[in-house]
Amino acid sequence: MPNYECDLVIVGSGPAGLAAALCALKSNLSVILVEPRVFPRYRHGESLHPGVEPVLQHLGAGSLLSNGEFIRYLGIWSGSSTDLTYHKLGNDDEGDWRGYQIMGAEFDTELQKLVLQRGAKLIADRAHSVVRKGECVAGIRTVGGLQIRAKFTLDAAGGRHWLANQLNIEVEPFSPPLVSTSEYGSLSSEGEQVAQLPRFEFDENGWTWTAEVERKMYCVTRLNWHTNLNKKPEKTYSKTLNSTTKVRASNVTWRCAQRLAGAGFFILGDAAMVLDPASSQGVIRALTSGVTAVELIKVLLFEPEQEASLYQTYTDKMQWQFHDSRRSLIKHYRQSPSCPYWLSAQ
Ligand SMILES: Cc1cc2nc3c(=O)[nH]c(=O)nc-3n(C[C@H](O)[C@H](O)[C@H](O)COP(=O)(O)OP(=O)(O)OC[C@H]3O[C@@H](n4cnc5c(N)ncnc54)[C@H](O)[C@@H]3O)c2cc1C
Repeated sequence: MPNYECDLVIVGSGPAGLAAALCALKSNLSVILVEPRVFPRYRHGESLHPGVEPVLQHLGAGSLLSNGEFIRYLGIWSGSSTDLTYHKLGNDDEGDWRGYQIMGAEFDTELQKLVLQRGAKLIADRAHSVVRKGECVAGIRTVGGLQIRAKFTLDAAGGRHWLANQLNIEVEPFSPPLVSTSEYGSLSSEGEQVAQLPRFEFDENGWTWTAEVERKMYCVTRLNWHTNLNKKPEKTYSKTLNSTTKVRASNVTWRCAQRLAGAGFFILGDAAMVLDPASSQGVIRALTSGVTAVELIKVLLFEPEQEASLYQTYTDKMQWQFHDSRRSLIKHYRQSPSCPYWLSAQ
């Protein structure tokens, strides 16, 4: 079996894994990324909070946003279809905050190019199982038969919770099963309210999010409180979207792994925690989890005696962020025209 050795093996090349890689490369740590899919791979169109700017600048990737021609937005229309109110993102001394509409696939591709230019090795394979040294995670084995030994293994492989499953760490649900569906296309002129975008429209069964993610390319995402995880996703919920893509369904059940770090491993991004897309913070949470984990790893490399407390620090910090975002989302839903049944009962 061929062997590799490195400081960090990162499973998954989404925003969490790529942020971790950039942070590690800044300190000359050796990084192997394991990602089975060829980029650009599918990822939904996303609205990015302007808070991503300083994180990307810290990683030396600020130009990704400043050089890109993204659609910017100052706020969001929200409410029932007959009573929409505009909510600005906020402002500071430098003026109004403006979010970014991005196609996730392109964003990740550009970030991955940067990571490879800066010296990471990319292995096109899928993580299979964990290599252990006593109680410690010491790397991974891939489906293709490689063994990659590493000082630290970072799971950034998304919401299937690869490492938590490997290590029997429980992933606790905080909502009933929730599925969101997304479609892309143009808007028909009849009844469209292009001026009121991005828009969150609540109805008695859930919400619909409409945004222009690229010029004249619209994304409609729907969350129905009652959708069954095992049911085939329904096609077109939007009267105004001329859909050009198939319906993509995602498991967006609110959930969080009970332990996010331990001997030799860290769990990042959606692999650690998921909230539904209304929280609009998945990407920034993914980026900051990657940076936080690697900053702690840098301390650990010089002060290994701090191991236990630093693993706990990471778990506490990330879980605090999760619950803070969850509380904001609950508040948002409770103030909306249609509070989900499982929150109104509490
Ligand atoms: C419909 C929808 C809309 C959303 N909209 C927004 C939004 O507007 N704003 C926002 O901030 N967030 C949004 N999110 C959330 C956001 O997309 C995620 O939080 C973010 O992509 C998480 O990044 P990640 O790097 O943790 O995981 P991912 O982006 O899922 O990346 C994981 C990577 O791991 C790879 N992988 C999987 N298994 C393996 C394996 N075994 N071995 C190796 N590699 C593997 C995958 O191929 C993938 O490339 C949305 C989510 C959904 C579902």
